[in-house]
Amino acid sequence: LSQLFRPLDLLGMVYRTIRQGVIDMASMFALIDTPAEVTDMPGAAPLAIARGHVRFEGVRFGYDPEREILHGLDLDIPAGSTVAVVGPSGAGKSTLARLMYRFYDVDQGRITIDGQDIRDVQQGSLRAAIGIVPQDTVLFNDTIGYNIGYGREGASQAEIEGAAAGAAIAGFIERQPDGYAARVGERGLKLSGGEKQRVAIARTLLKNPPILILDEATSALDSRTEADILATLQAIERGRTTIVIAHRLSTVVHADQIVVLDGGVVAERGTHGELLRLGGLYAEMWARQAQERDEDDVAGASEGA
Ligand code: ATP
Repeated sequence: LSQLFRPLDLLGMVYRTIRQGVIDMASMFALIDTPAEVTDMPGAAPLAIARGHVRFEGVRFGYDPEREILHGLDLDIPAGSTVAVVGPSGAGKSTLARLMYRFYDVDQGRITIDGQDIRDVQQGSLRAAIGIVPQDTVLFNDTIGYNIGYGREGASQAEIEGAAAGAAIAGFIERQPDGYAARVGERGLKLSGGEKQRVAIARTLLKNPPILILDEATSALDSRTEADILATLQAIERGRTTIVIAHRLSTVVHADQIVVLDGGVVAERGTHGELLRLGGLYAEMWARQAQERDEDDVAGASEGA
């Protein structure tokens, strides 16, 4: 009889793996573009995570062999610290996150977590250690409770509610007539960009990973929502190694280290204050975005009048 059930067990395992894999990938990257070309080394051990010290050492990488995107990148992210990666569109910011999650392997150099080359460890254990809050969160046609509980299989209702509170979305859910049983989707609750992001934050709180990647939403959140979400994110960053892929510089001021990527190399690195004093690319970007913010404020004020 057990012979009969073994394939069924296997099927169940494959199903669970795919289900977890699909949400992780789909939530951050376009699924169809992501080839499954990375496999575990024979006999790979699980990642032994101590505190989550992440290093990129001389990383070279290109999606195509003829076009290198990262040209020998060094990055040291001490355990528990926050690094913000900024730079022009196409600089390779999201590529860093894809490499950390090991959707692709580096061509040269290495990425380590607590001293272990991520190519030497089991992918499942690597991905379990990394939480991603993506730009666009994929929601299921199911209840809001299910959508949050997805962060960790077997989470209890109390844990789901705790995560919702941590992501500052509990009040919103409790105001729904069906509460956590409220359905999300076409014929149910329609969530705003900010609310969806809070669902992603709640999922990540349930997962409770030592390493966090925040892919900052480019979609326009109004400035009040943006400030609220920022405060929530800063709270969940505490005690975790965090990589923020940032588009708006106003959101990176607090980072321990800001890295300016330009053309696949680190053009500048330092704290906000240091980079402003340097008077280079970051200072230029800061001045430009400050001007845009002022213009928005003026436009907002005249709309409100
Ligand atoms: P943005 O700020 O616009 O999100 P980014 O700095 O995150 O940009 P990446 O997404 O890392 O940039 O892309 C870096 C470069 O790699 C770009 O030139 C992009 O066209 C290229 N690229 C990204 N994904 C792929 C892919 N799957 N195949 C081939 N080239 C890709």
